[in-house]
Amino acid sequence: MSNKNDKAEQKAITKREDDYSEWYQDIVEQAELAEHSPVRGCMVIKPYGYAIWELMQKDLDKRFKAKEVQNAYFPLFIPQSFLTKEAQHVEGFAPELAVVTHAGGEKLDEPLVVRPTSETIIYATYSKWIQSYRDLPLLINQWANVVRWELRTRLFLRTTEFLWQEGHTVHATEDDAEDFTKQMLDVYKDFAEEIMALPVITGRKSDSEKFAGAVRTYCIEAMMQDGKALQSGTSHMLGQNFAKAFDVKFLDADGEEKYGWQTSWGVSTRLIGGLIMAHSDDKGLVLPPRLAPHQVVIVPISASEQEQEAVNGKALEIKDQLEEKGVRVKIDDRDMRPGPRFFEWEKKGVPVRIEIGPKDLAAGSVVAVRRDTADKATLTEEVLVDTVIDLLDQIQKDLFDKALNFRNENTVSATDYEEFKKVIEGHFVKTYWCGSADCEAEIKADTKATIRCIPFNQGEEMGKCVKCGKESDVQVIIAKAY
Ligand SMILES: [Zn+2]
Repeated sequence: MSNKNDKAEQKAITKREDDYSEWYQDIVEQAELAEHSPVRGCMVIKPYGYAIWELMQKDLDKRFKAKEVQNAYFPLFIPQSFLTKEAQHVEGFAPELAVVTHAGGEKLDEPLVVRPTSETIIYATYSKWIQSYRDLPLLINQWANVVRWELRTRLFLRTTEFLWQEGHTVHATEDDAEDFTKQMLDVYKDFAEEIMALPVITGRKSDSEKFAGAVRTYCIEAMMQDGKALQSGTSHMLGQNFAKAFDVKFLDADGEEKYGWQTSWGVSTRLIGGLIMAHSDDKGLVLPPRLAPHQVVIVPISASEQEQEAVNGKALEIKDQLEEKGVRVKIDDRDMRPGPRFFEWEKKGVPVRIEIGPKDLAAGSVVAVRRDTADKATLTEEVLVDTVIDLLDQIQKDLFDKALNFRNENTVSATDYEEFKKVIEGHFVKTYWCGSADCEAEIKADTKATIRCIPFNQGEEMGKCVKCGKESDVQVIIAKAY
C-alpha cells in the first residue's frame, strides 16, 4: 500500500504546454477525482471528486428553490414510443440511445430507453397533473443520472453516463416561459461566476447547435486554458413543441383549452471538467475556495513525540476556531514527512495550507501558503482566523479575475476568412455572421470550430459575415469546443 502511494507521489504531472490533454487526465487521476470503469466511457467518481459535486449541487439547489422550483424524481426507463413523439427530439437523440430489450429473462413487448434526458417521460406525466391555469406555473427539477452512448469519451467532459440536474417547467403564456428560460440562464451564470470563479459569455445558440426539440437554446460558454470553449449550461425555450406531442393542456381563465409553454434547463458533472481546465496548473488541481471540500489543510510538523502532542493540540485549536466561522478544515497529521503531505494537498488544490512546527508554536504564529500563487505569510495567532477568511475571499476573486483576463487576452476579432482561419486555434473569435446555416457548416467543415453563441446585447454596428462577406448586424463567438 505505502509502496503504491510512493509511486503515485513520484509520478510527475504532464505540463500543459507539452500535452494539454494528458495534463488534464493526470490531474483527474492524481487529484483522485475519478477513474475509468470496466464499462467503456463510464466513470467512477471518487470521494474527493464527489465532494466537489456535492458542493455544486448544494449551491445550485438553493438557487433553484429561491425560484420556487421543487425537486421530484422520474423513472430511469422510458417507453421507446415516447421518444418518437417529438420528431426533432428523436432525430437528435436516436444515435446515442441505450435500449433495454430484455428483462426478467424475457423479451419486452416494448423496448425501454435508458433516459438520455427526461422531457418525454416528464411531460407525459405533466399531461395528467395539469388541468387548469391555476396549476401553473409548474416548476420542477430532478437530480439524476442520464445515459448517452458517446463514441469518444473523456472523464467528466463527455461520459456515457453522467450526473446532472434537469429542470422542467410549464407556463400559461409564451412570455412567462421565455422569461423563466432566461432567469434560469442567469442562475447558471451567477453560479459559474460567483462559485466556480468561471467567467462565462451568455447568449443564444444558432439553430444547428440548439437542443433537439427546442425553439431556442440559451447557453453559458466558458474559455478553458487551451482557448477552447466549454458549454457549461443550457436553458431551452421549448415553446409548445412538446406540449403538443404530449398533450400538456390547461383550461385558461377565459374558459379556453390551451397548450402549455415549456422550458427545460440543465448542468452536469461536466462542470467539474470545466473547473479543472479553467484554474489548474502544472502542479495539480487549483480549486476556488467555494468549491473546495477542504478550504484549509493544517499540516502539523514535529520531530519528537513531545513536540507532536503540542503541535497537534494547536492544530486542533485552530481547526475549531476556523470551523466556528464556517471554514472547511482538514488536519493532515499522518506519520509522514511534511514534503509528501504538502505535495498531496497541492495536487488536490486545497486553497490554503497552514504549517505549524515547534518554532511556530514558540513564536505564537503559523505559516500560511496560498495554493494558487504559492505566496507564503507568517500569521500571528491573533489575526489568524480573520486573515484566513479574507485570504479565501481574495483567492476566489483572484481566480475569477485571472480567468477573465485570460479570456479577454485570447478573444480576437477577424474580418475576413483567411485571417479567421489563422487565429481560430486557441482563441475565441468574435466576428459577424450572416445567419446562414451554410456559412456555419462550411466554417465547421474547414476548421472544426462552431458558433458557440450569439451573445446578448448586440450592438447597432454592421459588419461582414466572416465566411461569405454579406452585411450583417449579428456578432457571434466562434471557437473550437469540448
Ligand atoms: Zn455568411
